Amino acid sequence: MRKLVLATKNLGKVAEFDRLLSNYAPDIKVLGLADFPDMPEVVESGKTLSENARLKAKTISQFTNLPTLADDSGLFIDALNGDPGIYSARWAGYEGDDAKVRDKLNIQKVLTQLKDVPVSARAGQFKAVVAFYKESSDGSIIEKEELGVLPGRILTQPIGDAGFGYDPIFSPDQFDLSLAQLAPGVKDEVSHRGIALRAIAPFLRDHL
Ligand code: IMP
Repeated sequence: MRKLVLATKNLGKVAEFDRLLSNYAPDIKVLGLADFPDMPEVVESGKTLSENARLKAKTISQFTNLPTLADDSGLFIDALNGDPGIYSARWAGYEGDDAKVRDKLNIQKVLTQLKDVPVSARAGQFKAVVAFYKESSDGSIIEKEELGVLPGRILTQPIGDAGFGYDPIFSPDQFDLSLAQLAPGVKDEVSHRGIALRAIAPFLRDHL
């Protein structure tokens, strides 16, 4: 089995990546937080999803000495001029470790910000950049990134229990349901992360 490290501590994302990669490259063993409990927290100091994803992939690859895939993603809402965007994870300012509390506070903040915005003006997109970094034994470096975009709209109240993050308030254009009402496999087929990962999968197969 060829090894690939996933540079994330977000268990929701690990589950999505695992499902997606096992479909497209079943001979790749995905290693995550459980395999590297000391994996450092990378400060997302970039100004774009791309800068942050590349920074995470490079830092974790140099830490593990293994090829690494990282992603950075966010919800870009038209009526908020693209916010929360790259700040999606900590939009409400919660610094604790409880992902459910964080998601709930983030959702509440977005809904409050959009409370006077009519349904017709609630468009938004989830975006994900996946970035791959590998340093070969001869010192040469291979880098690659792909972007996935999922257009949809922000609902007026949360609905559904599946997924993570802003899933309960986001309805993709293809469905009259929130992402949190979709079965995991169905979300993978349409999601920004799924699109980006399927785009980079052939490259991973050839360069791991
Ligand atoms: P990061 O990519 O780890 O910096 O976090 C991006 C943040 O955007 C997540 O913590 C979620 O709040 C949000 N997000 C990204 N992708 C999704 C998704 O598929 N569903 C719901 N929220 C998401």
